[in-house]
Order: sequence, then C-alpha cells, then structure tokens
Amino acid sequence: MQTAPFDYYRPETLADAIDLLSTVDGARPLAGGHSLLPAMKLRVANPPALVDLSRIEGLDGISRNGDSLSIGALTKHAAVAASELVQGDCSILADTAAHIGDPAVRNRGTIGGSIAHADPAADYPTVLTALGATITVTGKSGDRSIPADDYFVDMFTPAHADGELVTSVEVPVIGDEQGGDYKKHRHPASSYAVVGVAAVVSASDGTCTAARIAIGGITGTPERAEAAEAALVGQVVSAESIAEASSKVAAALDNPLGDVYASGEYRVHLATVLTRRALADAFIDAGV
Ligand SMILES: Cc1cc2nc3c(=O)[nH]c(=O)nc-3n(C[C@H](O)[C@H](O)[C@H](O)COP(=O)(O)OP(=O)(O)OC[C@H]3O[C@@H](n4cnc5c(N)ncnc54)[C@H](O)[C@@H]3O)c2cc1C
Repeated sequence: MQTAPFDYYRPETLADAIDLLSTVDGARPLAGGHSLLPAMKLRVANPPALVDLSRIEGLDGISRNGDSLSIGALTKHAAVAASELVQGDCSILADTAAHIGDPAVRNRGTIGGSIAHADPAADYPTVLTALGATITVTGKSGDRSIPADDYFVDMFTPAHADGELVTSVEVPVIGDEQGGDYKKHRHPASSYAVVGVAAVVSASDGTCTAARIAIGGITGTPERAEAAEAALVGQVVSAESIAEASSKVAAALDNPLGDVYASGEYRVHLATVLTRRALADAFIDAGV
C-alpha cells in the first residue's frame, strides 16, 4: 500500500521544526513513523506535508534531574529499555519499553511519538499516568508542562496544540518504599495492550501509604481507578486488601471499548485480574 503524495521537510533545529509546523498548511511531525506511516498507507491520515524530527539534536537522551528522569521525545523505545538509569530509577518504565511491539518497532519508535499519538492501546500513556509523569511541549511561545493526567484528552487526541511538539517527559523516580508494575494482556499479533494496568504504590511498615492505578485499552484514554486507590491507602497490604481494591476498578470503566478480539465486558474482567497481579508485584517491588 502506498501513501498519498506529501511534501517532506527535514529541519535541523527545534525552532525550524516549530516554524515549519506553524507555516506549512496541514504539516505533521514525523518521529519514528511506526504509527503515522501505517495510518498514511491505510489512507486514514493524509497529511500534505511531513516535518521529520529525526535530525534535530538534543531531543533524545535520558538524564536524572533531582527526583525525576528527563527523557527526550526522540528517545527510542529500545534506548529506554536498555538505559541503566531507567532500569535503576524507574524499572517499570524500562520493562514497559522492553515489551513494546517487536525489535523493529522498538528500534524506530520514540517515546514522544507514542505519547503524542495517544493511542488507547499503547503502553506508555498508561504507565506514565500511573507514575504521575509530566509532558513538556514546546511551541512558538516557549515550553509548557502538562501532567499526564491531563495530557490524554481523548482517543488519539493529545492536549498539545497544532504547532507544538512534545520535547520531553519528566518521570518521577521510584524511591525507597515505593514500587511499580505494569501488566498487559498483549494482542498476539502486535503486542499492543488489549488491556494494560499500571500500579505505582508506596508502603511503610506493611501498610499502603499511596497508590496510583491506571488502566489502558478499555476507554479512550488511560483511566485512573480512584476507588481502587482509595480502598488501598491506609490498609495493611495483604492478598485480601489487594483483591478488595481490585474489585473496584470496574467502577472507573464506563462504556468499555470492545471489538472482535475482546468484548468490553471481557476487557473489564481482565482489568480486575491484571490490577490484582500488578498491585501484588508493585508491593513486592516496594519491599513489602
Ligand atoms: C507492528 C507494530 C507493533 C506495535 N506494538 C506496540 C505495542 O505493543 N505497544 C505500544 O505502545 N506501541 C506499539 N506500536 C506503536 C509504536 O510504539 C510507535 O512507535 C509509537 O506509537 C509512535 O511513535 P513514533 O515515534 O513511531 O511516532 P510517529 O509514527 O512518527 O508519530 C505518531 C504521531 O505522533 C506525532 N508526533 C510524533 N512525534 C511527535 C512529537 N515529538 N511531538 C508532537 N507530535 C509528534 C505524529 O505527527 C503522529 O501523529 C506498534 C507499532 C507497530 C507498527
């Protein structure tokens, strides 16, 4: 399958890319191309111009700033998975990256492209929401920071404006007495999440002191399971308290998406099971 014809630009600076996106009618950014190009070949997306970000320096790489990791938008999934910083300071994110797609996808796809695409079946949006990450976007008027909780507005609808680019994501490190885990029921053909559940917890002396649970693949955006989180905080961590909290995730999942592969009802059931497993492993990670 062929794409429709398009103009191609390859700027070398962020300022030039932003300028092109603001002045060329209908221009779209191109990062790894692993979501945009398939959509163009299917003619679901037909941008008249692409602005290739791959030559822009300074948009990839991973560094630690205080209690956060800063990950550049052009950082490939494979680099996130292989990073000793991410493995040490936020292992849930390294594990997530290691299970995206296949080696070809991980060696081309970027964290910024995945975030900006806002696909409900993608892995990073769910995990970044559970982590309480912040997305940095840059446009003509400078940078702004958008919490992951607010960034995923709807299916394939991110909060950044046309002409703005995702430039980095700031991810809180997992500290002492904290733990995280992501479980997905992967589609066997693509590895996309039919359902994915991310849990990030804190515990002290065997009692849960904080919990963030995000569920992907069932609604248009990652959904926080707030009733389940509230049920856990203050409880002694046990199989029973985890099962009780997990039984509350369905409350967050109105109008579940369904397709020929998995009905909405089945996805909600999976979310309950995966929440229980993710919480159990997140508490082990937290040293409980
Ligand atoms: C076979 C296959 C299997 C896959 N399996 C999985 C999986 O298991 N889990 C998963 O999460 N994903 C999966 N993916 C998707 C993959 O992770 C993509 O790499 C990712 O969704 C998009 O990143 P990209 O860099 O390729 O972005 P692109 O395809 O280049 O762009 C995606 C969208 O984001 C926009 N964009 C790109 N970069 C920016 C930026 N910096 N700022 C603003 N907008 C931007 C583009 O204009 C476009 O709209 C799979 C893809 C394929 C082809």
